Amino acid sequence: MTYVVTDACIRCKHTDCVEVCPVDCFHEGENMLVINPAECIDCNACVPECPEEAIFPDIGRGLEQWLELNAKYAALWPNLTQKKDPPVDAGDFKGVTRKFDQYFSAKPGEGD
Ligand code: SF4
Ligand code: SF4
Repeated sequence: MTYVVTDACIRCKHTDCVEVCPVDCFHEGENMLVINPAECIDCNACVPECPEEAIFPDIGRGLEQWLELNAKYAALWPNLTQKKDPPVDAGDFKGVTRKFDQYFSAKPGEGD
């Protein structure tokens, strides 16, 4: 099992989650984060920290695509271990559903 970041993170990217991860397994894309499934130790620490409720254990129904996406982009995007400011317009995207189709970006973030 692993935890995965899902749609709600897109364009919100508050990064509260990275501060509590004991194994630093978050990676930063241009407008979302992903978890490296090979490194996540299933500790659940990040889940309550996420203001968007974007993180779930991959055992949930319908999460296969997110597991695939997390694994793929964790290998391509840089590691992020410290909290940074969210995008200035993050509030505009809070609660918006099905953001992937419109807003997902495969570009990497800056990382740290
Ligand atoms: S705290 Fe939630 S919204 Fe913020 S970057 Fe982490 S997963 Fe994304
Ligand atoms: S469940 Fe734990 S190890 Fe996995 S990403 Fe969240 S904080 Fe990191």
